[in-house]
Amino acid sequence: MATYDFDMGILGGGSGGLTVASGSAQLGAKTLLVEKEKELGGDCLHYGCVPSKTLIHTAHVYHLMKNASRFGLPSAGVGPVDFREVAGRIQSVIQIIQRHDSEERFCKLGVKVEIGEPSFVDEHSVRLNGKTLSAKNWVIATGSSPAVPSVPGLDQTPYVTNRDLFSFERLPESMIILGAGPIAAEMAQAFCRLGTRVDVIQRSDQILSNEDQDLADQVMKVLEGEGVVFHMNTSILSARDLGREREVRIKTKEGETISLRAEALLAALGREANLKGMNLEGIGVPYDDKGLKLDERLRTNHRHIYGAGDVTGTHQFTHAAGYEGGIVVSNVIFHLPRKVDYTYLPWCTYTQPELASIGMNEKRAKAAGIEYEVWAEEFKDNDRSLAEGEHVGKIKMLLDKKGKPLGVQILGPRAGDLVCEWVAALNGGIKPMTLAAAVHPYPTLGEINKKVAGTYLSSKIFSERVKKGLRFFFHLRGRACGPGES
Ligand SMILES: Cc1cc2nc3c(=O)[nH]c(=O)nc-3n(C[C@H](O)[C@H](O)[C@H](O)COP(=O)(O)OP(=O)(O)OC[C@H]3O[C@@H](n4cnc5c(N)ncnc54)[C@H](O)[C@@H]3O)c2cc1C
Repeated sequence: MATYDFDMGILGGGSGGLTVASGSAQLGAKTLLVEKEKELGGDCLHYGCVPSKTLIHTAHVYHLMKNASRFGLPSAGVGPVDFREVAGRIQSVIQIIQRHDSEERFCKLGVKVEIGEPSFVDEHSVRLNGKTLSAKNWVIATGSSPAVPSVPGLDQTPYVTNRDLFSFERLPESMIILGAGPIAAEMAQAFCRLGTRVDVIQRSDQILSNEDQDLADQVMKVLEGEGVVFHMNTSILSARDLGREREVRIKTKEGETISLRAEALLAALGREANLKGMNLEGIGVPYDDKGLKLDERLRTNHRHIYGAGDVTGTHQFTHAAGYEGGIVVSNVIFHLPRKVDYTYLPWCTYTQPELASIGMNEKRAKAAGIEYEVWAEEFKDNDRSLAEGEHVGKIKMLLDKKGKPLGVQILGPRAGDLVCEWVAALNGGIKPMTLAAAVHPYPTLGEINKKVAGTYLSSKIFSERVKKGLRFFFHLRGRACGPGES
């Protein structure tokens, strides 16, 4: 039998790779983790979720300070933002979380961490820092990078990506954002709130194109209300460096050419999997820009080489990477043939209001040819929401014809937290009736979950048929007050 240096070899020390490393080492597998950067943690910790959510919160506080009078408070005279202070706070949050993802911690768990850029020499071995290291199983979890858009002149024009955004020396006066996906929308609002003039360029007529248009349009309206300028249905013609500014020329749907200028240019037009330079071609592992070609157990064509995280090219979220890491551990260590199932994978865009989603939305249900009905409740009817000055947004619950939940979309304050109740409900097969009957504390935003389920139930309980039956059996005598009487 062939022998290897390690039972498990992992390439990439981000959300996916760290999940596999901690799981496999704690289960007794001799584990190697190879990371190319000096520190573990990946994009989420250093250039993604953590810095972006920290920045978003800082921008939210500043927004509240500027709008103190809306809460019955004296207007506070707020000064301009010193971005070095903001960047400092971002770094301090990263440093705290970094301890959890440190090399020392993983070493204590039993993981051998190597820093460097590995390249496969055969399907069981990589060359790294002058050594050849072999493993019985490999997991590729090298994440993704911002896609470089093919815009004439962009290669000669300095632009920034999510890797630069959180360490600006000073707040840019103006910023053009290419793309209107979740990262673009979150950053557009955050920078605009901090005082940057923001223009967003989008090819189609909708931002956040995976979401239902009615909800995405509401997000856009809020951002527009705060000052973000959207250029919808436009194509990018060219980019140019003007020294102190960058110029982007766009063409509108009507054929008009417009020139936009800004101090910073942010490319947020999607992500490309980090798969080049590892000699995957040499060992015959197929991939494209989106990601690896994997089966449902996340195996490549070589059954002992797996993929997890953004390299799967499916759902590029930290929690998806963690979930996929768990699937890999089950398959490799327990030899359980576990397959991925993304039916109830939730996600959230952290604009304010947040937009969270689980299961089917109307767009996906229509595309799948599934018949559905929608039950909705608005945050303007939620007492806690009103108390907090939040009036925008709603919850949409999609049910199939038999009343089984297909999915839930929430646009509103703390939607990312509110969707967690639906994570449990949908994964646990809980019926709307159970949710409607469960007592929720008052006054909470979470009552909206109970209310939407209750509204659906009311339509069944308070039907004419039920009323007729109750009148017949219990001699109920009907209305005591008619329309127009009081
Ligand atoms: C601005 C922004 C905000 C985001 N916000 C959220 C959010 O709020 N919620 C959410 O769920 N997701 C969010 N994401 C997405 C999230 O960051 C990713 O989905 C997640 O990091 C993917 O984990 P991963 O393990 O696949 O990749 P990563 O975490 O990026 O880890 C990959 C690791 O592999 C290393 N690596 C790369 N190439 C090699 C190589 N050749 N050899 C060795 N190591 C290599 C990298 O250095 C990196 O450390 C955000 C992303 C961005 C950019």
